[in-house]
Amino acid sequence: MSNITNNVLEQKNERVTSYFGANRTITLQGTTINGHSGIDFVPEGWIITPEDGEVISVKDSVAGVSVGTGNDFGNYVHLRVNPRYVLRFCHLKQGAIVKVGQKLKKGARVGYMGTTGFSTGIHLHFEIRDNNIAIDPLPYLEGKLKLTATTAQVPPVTEPPPPANTSRYVVVAGDTMTKIAEKFKLQLGALAAANPAIKDINKINVGQVINIPNIPPTLVVPTPPQKSAQQVASEIWRGQGGWGNDPGRKEKLIAYGGAAFREEVQQLLNKM
Ligand SMILES: [Zn+2]
Repeated sequence: MSNITNNVLEQKNERVTSYFGANRTITLQGTTINGHSGIDFVPEGWIITPEDGEVISVKDSVAGVSVGTGNDFGNYVHLRVNPRYVLRFCHLKQGAIVKVGQKLKKGARVGYMGTTGFSTGIHLHFEIRDNNIAIDPLPYLEGKLKLTATTAQVPPVTEPPPPANTSRYVVVAGDTMTKIAEKFKLQLGALAAANPAIKDINKINVGQVINIPNIPPTLVVPTPPQKSAQQVASEIWRGQGGWGNDPGRKEKLIAYGGAAFREEVQQLLNKM
């Protein structure tokens, strides 16, 4: 394979015997393996790393061909290139020459080619794992893919920005516009004005986003001295205080003293 520029064999004489994703079935001692998660190379010789990296895993205990014992990859070295990519060198001859935690420079020896594990002859099974998913190593070996740590950026979900000088509040169960206004110490009218899209302020839904006008504390109109429910009921009875008639009066009363206050006023009015 003269196209390989990132060599994995010290002699730079790599010859591919099986490509990644090969539609192949190999049966060995009654066990069958389908497909191919790496790329296989011959001829026998020293294996080198094509990238700087840190050894994160080594297996060295497999004496030869081993089938169905969890040792399909035989003796191996896993080398982390960066947070995203790991290189795997498999079926190595027994006798590790690197240790976990060891840092290797490009071109350093990783091990000697062997035929340990699920293997039908001396070869190197080389894998590249991208976030632990095996990918085709060939584009990398041919210099067409760089193993950079940068992961593809998922474009952020863009919401339209809130109107100027407002923040956002998501409606939860039990909320009403009146309660939200109280929570943020706002006049109901100011809250309604910041949410022109809400046609009926009595109809808001859980999960709905409400614009909360950011009124600087110094500009919040001081709450006028609170009149008692009795005083307000008397004013309404006499047509004073500018409370007007229902239904507008209901919202005014709620904005003034809350839902319970309005209820109290209404009960008093009913008795008058
Ligand atoms: Zn293989």
